Amino acid sequence: MNVTELARRVGIHTNVLLEILPEFGFDIGKKAIKVDDRVAQAIMRSSKRMKDELERRKKEEAKKRKELERAMRKERGEIVYVPDVISVRDFAGRLNLPVTSVIMELMKNGILANLNQNIDRETATVLAEDMGFVVEQEASVPATAGEEATADALQAALSTQVVGDMTTRPPVVVVMGHVDHGKTKLLDAIRSTNIMATESGGITQHIGAYQIEHTMKGQKTKRHVTFIDTPGHEAFTVMRSRGARIADIAILVVAADDGVMPQTVEAINIIKAAKLPMVVAINKIDKPDANIDKVKTELSGRNILPEEWGGKTPVVAISAKEGKNIDQLVETILLVADVEEANIRASADRPAIGTIIESHVDKGEGPVATVLVQAGTLHRGDSLVVNNKVYGTVRAMKNYRGEDVLVAPPSTPVRVLGFKIAPEVGDIMDVSKSDTAEKVRKSKGVSTTKTTHSINQPTQETNQDNQPKKTLTLVIKADVLGSLEAILGSVEKFQHDEVAVKVVGKGLGNITEADVARAESSHAQILAFRVQMSPMGQAELRNKPTVVVGKFDVIYALLEYIEAELQKLLPAEHIITEHGHAKVLAIFRTDKSAMTIGARVISGKMLKGLRVRVRRSNMIEGEGTIESLQLGQSVEKQIFEGTEFGMRFAGKLRVEVGDILEAYSEEIRKRTIEFKHLHQEK
Ligand code: GDP
Repeated sequence: MNVTELARRVGIHTNVLLEILPEFGFDIGKKAIKVDDRVAQAIMRSSKRMKDELERRKKEEAKKRKELERAMRKERGEIVYVPDVISVRDFAGRLNLPVTSVIMELMKNGILANLNQNIDRETATVLAEDMGFVVEQEASVPATAGEEATADALQAALSTQVVGDMTTRPPVVVVMGHVDHGKTKLLDAIRSTNIMATESGGITQHIGAYQIEHTMKGQKTKRHVTFIDTPGHEAFTVMRSRGARIADIAILVVAADDGVMPQTVEAINIIKAAKLPMVVAINKIDKPDANIDKVKTELSGRNILPEEWGGKTPVVAISAKEGKNIDQLVETILLVADVEEANIRASADRPAIGTIIESHVDKGEGPVATVLVQAGTLHRGDSLVVNNKVYGTVRAMKNYRGEDVLVAPPSTPVRVLGFKIAPEVGDIMDVSKSDTAEKVRKSKGVSTTKTTHSINQPTQETNQDNQPKKTLTLVIKADVLGSLEAILGSVEKFQHDEVAVKVVGKGLGNITEADVARAESSHAQILAFRVQMSPMGQAELRNKPTVVVGKFDVIYALLEYIEAELQKLLPAEHIITEHGHAKVLAIFRTDKSAMTIGARVISGKMLKGLRVRVRRSNMIEGEGTIESLQLGQSVEKQIFEGTEFGMRFAGKLRVEVGDILEAYSEEIRKRTIEFKHLHQEK
């Protein structure tokens, strides 16, 4: 029979068939054209097995490919933002995958949905994680009712529904992109070409944001643009995750010599999730290996089509280093702002509301924070209300040039002095809440000078079996917000069924009297990261000697300490091993705290030194120890099943003939826990 005919009959492609035949014991040669009819019959009988095998291989390959894609996404840390509900089409877009493959994945999970149907976050999360994405919840479900209220208030203040006295405000711009693509350099270039030297000759200050003045070509009026001065998307993501909405426009920086890189993709996803209009700045065009078209092509592959290619995204080729086309970039931003005008409005004539974009504790001045005023005007003397609590009053305000200012209108970043408590980046500050906050403060008798905040009352956690977990309570103090957040983020990952960590206090700056008092009242340890004891704290600590304070310079060391402390809380494991039973046959001698008896091993064996339970008509009467064993005259270490023996029983209990002696040993094993997030290989 012809091989092609045979292939047709068994339904396997000729080449594939010739490949696989030897594996099934048919050695007809890879180039065979004809086969003996008898062999052909045998092959046909085996065809089902062959097809199954081919099917299995195909599946395995597909699985491997999927694994590989998944591993690559994991390595790149590709983030996808998922809201509560999302359409299949939108979801596929965010994953940068064809809609059909997402529908297939859904089907594999038993979900039949077409591209316009919605899926919930849980489903989307399972699917995306399965494909190696890191899933983040999309914006604004703030942690507490108070925060929710302020985020809502911000939303309302910025909402274009309230027309009335709303006027255009300067657009707020963030710069995002891959590391080393020139974000910082670009921010510097924009700053240096557009900020007039101050009259006093002062130098610009890094306060987390700055403003520029620009006169558009062919126009007379000066226009302002506010730039968030912390490049990269970490800060932006933190703020967004807390419900903050700070930016109106994003600049995506892509280096012309490097192209679209993992963090570029991440930035694109974040910008898309935040629904921000985007301007692409292709940077480093001064470099000899710059390839602008290649970058544009890569962007198109990510659904970002440049305007000149018929798409919607403005792209400007620049050199931040040489200051080339910076003006053009700024003009483009202003043009985008004009298009978005309806969304970039606010009323200046109301109490200020805005977001904390920078916060630290200054050695001399105490807590200092930069507020980006987003609506209304902030005045000297205004109450600083954060999370419905009064954090202080505006004592002084400075702009990005280090100049004192008396008022800050919408879209103005100002460094504010007068905070008694350091707020957190992403916190929303709302002056209009001062009345309510004052009432709350009075009714609760809350002191506004506390240095720690967001304090939770310790509650006992329970495990799956509803058993209370042993809990390590902590007060954590750190020097800067970034470290504090990193520590708190890692602390959350100490998840265990029997032990738990509870942070009852956290904050920035040195350890105060209040921290020590709190630690004592909640039986907490104080962990200090790169901060010291304040003198008052030191004095308080002398009164409260039970409070433990641990100081650390390395986050990892602090986390390892927590791990070790949790380990100490973990109850030790008692391992009981049963060795054998013996029946008492005779009592030879009874002393005050020992007996000499005769017995027979009825199961297992008896070993010198083991503990024995004494069972009498199914009741345990008490316990003793096997002091020695004897077989006839010879002293033995162990006696096996079926053997009669003599033994010295140590114990107060009076053993009787007929009792069963149950020999066992007990081991107390200290248990160890290793939390994965501390011990993963880098
Ligand atoms: P970031 O990590 O994105 O903030 O990148 P940086 O602004 O720190 O820039 C990374 C490196 O690229 C620095 O060495 C810059 O001097 C350099 N760089 C930035 N912009 C340009 C540019 O337009 N041309 C050239 N040749 N180098 C640049």
